[in-house]
Amino acid sequence: MKTWEIYAIRHATNDSRTRGVNFISDPDPTALLTLDFFCWVLRSGDEVIVVDTGLDPAKGAKNGHSQVISPPDGWAALGVDPAQVSTVLLTHAHYDHLGYLDALPNARFYMQAEEMAYVTGPWMEKPTFRHAYWPDEIARLVHLLYDGRLHLHGRDHDVADGISAHWVGGHCAGQEVLRIRTERGWVVLASDALHYYEEYERGIPFTVAFNISDMIAAHDRIRTLADSDDHVLPGHDPRLLGLYPAVSSELEGKILRLDLPPEKAS
Ligand SMILES: [Zn+2]
Repeated sequence: MKTWEIYAIRHATNDSRTRGVNFISDPDPTALLTLDFFCWVLRSGDEVIVVDTGLDPAKGAKNGHSQVISPPDGWAALGVDPAQVSTVLLTHAHYDHLGYLDALPNARFYMQAEEMAYVTGPWMEKPTFRHAYWPDEIARLVHLLYDGRLHLHGRDHDVADGISAHWVGGHCAGQEVLRIRTERGWVVLASDALHYYEEYERGIPFTVAFNISDMIAAHDRIRTLADSDDHVLPGHDPRLLGLYPAVSSELEGKILRLDLPPEKAS
Protein backbone atom coordinates (compact mmCIF):
# COMPACT_ATOMS: atom_id res chain seq x y z
CA MET A 1 0.00 0.00 0.00
CA LYS A 2 1.30 3.39 -0.95
CA THR A 3 1.98 5.89 1.82
CA TRP A 4 2.66 9.60 1.50
CA GLU A 5 4.86 12.18 3.14
CA ILE A 6 3.17 15.52 3.89
CA TYR A 7 5.14 18.78 3.80
CA ALA A 8 3.63 22.10 4.91
CA ILE A 9 5.10 25.31 3.51
CA ARG A 10 4.40 28.15 5.97
CA HIS A 11 4.38 30.77 3.28
CA ALA A 12 2.88 33.71 5.18
CA THR A 13 1.84 34.90 8.63
CA ASN A 14 -0.17 37.63 10.35
CA ASP A 15 0.49 38.22 14.07
CA SER A 16 -1.82 41.22 14.42
CA ARG A 17 -5.14 39.37 14.23
CA THR A 18 -7.32 38.96 17.30
CA ARG A 19 -9.48 36.10 18.50
CA GLY A 20 -12.50 38.27 17.72
CA VAL A 21 -11.42 38.48 14.09
CA ASN A 22 -10.97 34.72 13.94
CA PHE A 23 -13.88 33.30 15.95
CA ILE A 24 -17.57 34.19 16.11
CA SER A 25 -18.69 35.38 19.60
CA ASP A 26 -15.34 34.68 21.25
CA PRO A 27 -15.29 35.50 25.00
CA ASP A 28 -11.84 37.13 24.71
CA PRO A 29 -12.16 39.00 21.39
CA THR A 30 -9.25 41.44 21.84
CA ALA A 31 -6.59 38.77 22.57
CA LEU A 32 -4.10 38.32 19.76
CA LEU A 33 -4.10 35.06 17.80
CA THR A 34 -1.61 34.64 14.95
CA LEU A 35 -2.90 33.31 11.65
CA ASP A 36 -0.30 31.31 9.74
CA PHE A 37 -0.72 30.35 6.08
CA PHE A 38 0.24 26.95 4.73
CA CYS A 39 0.27 25.18 1.39
CA TRP A 40 1.38 21.58 1.03
CA VAL A 41 3.38 19.04 -0.93
CA LEU A 42 2.56 15.32 -0.84
CA ARG A 43 5.30 12.90 -1.83
CA SER A 44 5.46 9.15 -2.33
CA GLY A 45 8.75 8.03 -3.89
CA ASP A 46 9.09 9.97 -7.15
CA GLU A 47 5.45 11.00 -7.17
CA VAL A 48 4.62 14.57 -6.11
CA ILE A 49 1.25 16.24 -5.65
CA VAL A 50 0.98 19.93 -4.83
CA VAL A 51 -1.92 21.04 -2.62
CA ASP A 52 -2.90 24.71 -2.97
CA THR A 53 -0.48 27.34 -4.21
CA GLY A 54 -0.24 29.93 -1.43
CA LEU A 55 -1.00 33.62 -1.69
CA ASP A 56 0.09 36.43 -3.93
CA PRO A 57 2.11 38.59 -1.47
CA ALA A 58 0.76 41.87 -2.89
CA LYS A 59 -2.80 40.72 -2.23
CA GLY A 60 -1.84 39.37 1.20
CA ALA A 61 -0.20 42.66 2.18
CA LYS A 62 -3.55 44.42 1.76
CA ASN A 63 -4.80 42.29 4.67
CA GLY A 64 -1.64 42.55 6.77
CA HIS A 65 -0.29 39.11 5.83
CA SER A 66 3.48 39.03 5.31
CA GLN A 67 5.28 36.45 3.24
CA VAL A 68 7.59 34.01 5.05
CA ILE A 69 8.76 32.04 2.00
CA SER A 70 7.34 32.07 -1.50
CA PRO A 71 5.68 28.77 -2.47
CA PRO A 72 8.06 28.39 -5.47
CA ASP A 73 11.02 28.77 -3.09
CA GLY A 74 9.36 26.21 -0.80
CA TRP A 75 8.92 23.77 -3.70
CA ALA A 76 12.56 24.29 -4.70
CA ALA A 77 13.70 23.62 -1.13
CA LEU A 78 11.83 20.32 -1.29
CA GLY A 79 13.49 19.45 -4.61
CA VAL A 80 10.24 19.89 -6.53
CA ASP A 81 10.58 21.27 -10.06
CA PRO A 82 7.31 23.13 -10.77
CA ALA A 83 7.57 22.28 -14.48
CA GLN A 84 7.45 18.57 -13.57
CA VAL A 85 4.36 18.84 -11.33
CA SER A 86 1.38 17.19 -13.05
CA THR A 87 -1.24 17.30 -10.28
CA VAL A 88 -2.35 20.25 -8.14
CA LEU A 89 -5.27 19.92 -5.74
CA LEU A 90 -7.11 23.14 -4.88
CA THR A 91 -8.95 22.70 -1.57
CA HIS A 92 -11.01 25.83 -2.35
CA ALA A 93 -10.54 29.06 -4.30
CA HIS A 94 -9.88 31.69 -1.60
CA TYR A 95 -7.00 33.88 -2.66
CA ASP A 96 -4.61 32.63 0.01
CA HIS A 97 -4.76 29.20 -1.68
CA LEU A 98 -4.66 30.34 -5.32
CA GLY A 99 -1.52 32.43 -5.83
CA TYR A 100 1.19 31.23 -8.19
CA LEU A 101 -1.16 29.16 -10.42
CA ASP A 102 1.01 30.15 -13.38
CA ALA A 103 4.18 28.88 -11.71
CA LEU A 104 3.03 25.32 -12.51
CA PRO A 105 2.91 25.38 -16.32
CA ASN A 106 2.29 21.67 -16.96
CA ALA A 107 -0.02 20.84 -14.09
CA ARG A 108 -3.62 19.74 -14.17
CA PHE A 109 -5.66 21.33 -11.38
CA TYR A 110 -8.46 19.62 -9.44
CA MET A 111 -11.23 21.32 -7.45
CA GLN A 112 -14.76 20.70 -6.21
CA ALA A 113 -17.33 21.49 -8.93
CA GLU A 114 -19.44 23.19 -6.27
CA GLU A 115 -16.65 25.66 -5.54
CA MET A 116 -16.47 26.69 -9.20
CA ALA A 117 -20.26 27.12 -9.37
CA TYR A 118 -20.12 29.19 -6.17
CA VAL A 119 -17.34 31.55 -7.26
CA THR A 120 -18.95 32.21 -10.65
CA GLY A 121 -22.55 32.32 -9.43
CA PRO A 122 -25.06 34.59 -7.71
CA TRP A 123 -23.58 34.41 -4.20
CA MET A 124 -20.66 36.51 -5.49
CA GLU A 125 -23.08 39.44 -5.76
CA LYS A 126 -22.81 39.55 -1.94
CA PRO A 127 -19.67 41.26 -0.59
CA THR A 128 -19.66 39.07 2.51
CA PHE A 129 -19.20 35.92 0.41
CA ARG A 130 -16.85 37.25 -2.26
CA HIS A 131 -14.38 39.10 -0.09
CA ALA A 132 -11.75 36.32 0.10
CA TYR A 133 -11.82 35.78 -3.68
CA TRP A 134 -10.06 37.82 -6.34
CA PRO A 135 -11.72 38.03 -9.77
CA ASP A 136 -8.42 37.87 -11.67
CA GLU A 137 -7.67 34.52 -10.01
CA ILE A 138 -11.19 33.20 -10.65
CA ALA A 139 -10.81 34.27 -14.29
CA ARG A 140 -7.56 32.33 -14.35
CA LEU A 141 -9.47 29.22 -13.23
CA VAL A 142 -11.97 29.77 -16.07
CA HIS A 143 -9.06 29.91 -18.53
CA LEU A 144 -7.56 26.72 -17.07
CA LEU A 145 -10.97 25.06 -17.42
CA TYR A 146 -11.22 26.04 -21.09
CA ASP A 147 -7.62 24.91 -21.63
CA GLY A 148 -8.50 21.45 -20.31
CA ARG A 149 -6.24 21.93 -17.29
CA LEU A 150 -8.89 22.17 -14.55
CA HIS A 151 -10.97 19.15 -13.61
CA LEU A 152 -14.06 19.92 -11.54
CA HIS A 153 -15.04 16.82 -9.62
CA GLY A 154 -17.92 15.65 -7.44
CA ARG A 155 -18.00 15.64 -3.68
CA ASP A 156 -15.90 12.51 -3.07
CA HIS A 157 -12.98 12.05 -5.43
CA ASP A 158 -10.18 9.47 -5.54
CA VAL A 159 -7.00 11.39 -6.33
CA ALA A 160 -4.37 8.65 -6.19
CA ASP A 161 -3.60 5.45 -4.33
CA GLY A 162 -3.82 6.60 -0.69
CA ILE A 163 -5.32 10.06 -1.32
CA SER A 164 -8.97 11.06 -1.60
CA ALA A 165 -10.75 14.41 -1.55
CA HIS A 166 -14.02 14.94 0.33
CA TRP A 167 -16.46 17.84 0.22
CA VAL A 168 -17.37 19.38 3.55
CA GLY A 169 -18.49 22.91 2.60
CA GLY A 170 -19.02 25.38 5.44
CA HIS A 171 -16.11 27.82 5.13
CA CYS A 172 -17.10 28.22 1.47
CA ALA A 173 -19.53 26.29 -0.72
CA GLY A 174 -16.87 23.93 -2.09
CA GLN A 175 -14.43 23.47 0.78
CA GLU A 176 -12.84 20.03 0.73
CA VAL A 177 -10.59 18.02 3.02
CA LEU A 178 -8.00 15.44 1.95
CA ARG A 179 -7.64 11.96 3.43
CA ILE A 180 -4.04 10.80 3.08
CA ARG A 181 -2.49 7.43 3.95
CA THR A 182 0.80 7.85 5.80
CA GLU A 183 3.16 5.54 7.68
CA ARG A 184 1.23 6.41 10.85
CA GLY A 185 -2.20 5.81 9.35
CA TRP A 186 -4.92 7.92 7.76
CA VAL A 187 -4.31 11.63 8.19
CA VAL A 188 -6.86 14.32 7.32
CA LEU A 189 -5.46 17.50 5.86
CA ALA A 190 -8.40 19.71 6.76
CA SER A 191 -7.17 22.85 4.99
CA ASP A 192 -9.67 25.60 5.87
CA ALA A 193 -12.36 23.24 7.11
CA LEU A 194 -10.31 23.93 10.27
CA HIS A 195 -8.22 27.07 10.50
CA TYR A 196 -7.29 26.22 14.10
CA TYR A 197 -7.31 23.07 16.24
CA GLU A 198 -9.49 25.03 18.64
CA GLU A 199 -12.44 24.97 16.23
CA TYR A 200 -12.29 21.17 16.20
CA GLU A 201 -11.65 20.81 19.93
CA ARG A 202 -14.41 23.19 21.03
CA GLY A 203 -16.83 22.80 18.12
CA ILE A 204 -16.73 26.52 17.30
CA PRO A 205 -17.04 28.25 13.91
CA PHE A 206 -14.44 30.39 12.16
CA THR A 207 -15.66 33.87 11.20
CA VAL A 208 -15.39 33.44 7.43
CA ALA A 209 -18.34 31.17 6.71
CA PHE A 210 -20.73 30.39 3.88
CA ASN A 211 -22.75 27.90 5.93
CA ILE A 212 -22.12 27.47 9.65
CA SER A 213 -24.08 24.22 9.99
CA ASP A 214 -21.92 22.59 7.28
CA MET A 215 -18.83 24.03 8.98
CA ILE A 216 -19.71 22.40 12.30
CA ALA A 217 -20.88 19.15 10.65
CA ALA A 218 -17.44 18.99 8.98
CA HIS A 219 -15.86 18.36 12.38
CA ASP A 220 -17.70 15.01 12.63
CA ARG A 221 -16.86 14.14 9.04
CA ILE A 222 -13.17 14.79 9.74
CA ARG A 223 -13.37 12.57 12.85
CA THR A 224 -14.71 9.68 10.77
CA LEU A 225 -12.02 10.10 8.09
CA ALA A 226 -8.98 10.40 10.40
CA ASP A 227 -7.47 7.58 12.46
CA SER A 228 -7.50 9.81 15.57
CA ASP A 229 -7.58 13.47 16.58
CA ASP A 230 -3.76 13.39 16.36
CA HIS A 231 -4.19 12.62 12.66
CA VAL A 232 -6.00 15.91 11.93
CA LEU A 233 -4.16 18.89 10.42
CA PRO A 234 -5.68 22.39 10.37
CA GLY A 235 -4.86 24.86 7.60
CA HIS A 236 -3.76 28.01 9.44
CA ASP A 237 -2.75 27.11 13.01
CA PRO A 238 0.64 28.30 14.38
CA ARG A 239 0.35 25.45 16.91
CA LEU A 240 1.58 23.16 14.09
CA LEU A 241 5.05 24.71 14.50
CA GLY A 242 5.33 23.30 18.01
CA LEU A 243 3.94 19.89 17.09
CA TYR A 244 5.80 18.95 13.92
CA PRO A 245 9.51 19.09 12.99
CA ALA A 246 11.03 21.39 10.41
CA VAL A 247 12.54 19.52 7.47
CA SER A 248 15.95 21.06 8.31
CA SER A 249 17.41 23.69 10.63
CA GLU A 250 17.69 26.16 7.72
CA LEU A 251 13.98 25.75 7.04
CA GLU A 252 12.91 26.17 10.68
CA GLY A 253 9.59 28.01 10.74
CA LYS A 254 9.21 27.60 6.98
CA ILE A 255 8.66 23.95 6.03
CA LEU A 256 7.25 21.29 8.38
CA ARG A 257 6.92 17.52 8.04
CA LEU A 258 3.33 16.65 8.95
CA ASP A 259 3.10 12.92 8.24
CA LEU A 260 5.23 12.15 11.32
CA PRO A 261 3.53 11.73 14.72
CA PRO A 262 3.01 15.05 16.58
CA GLU A 263 5.23 15.90 19.56
CA LYS A 264 3.01 15.75 22.59
CA ALA A 265 5.54 17.48 24.83
CA SER A 266 5.39 20.88 23.15
ZN1 LIG B 1 -7.00 29.87 3.92
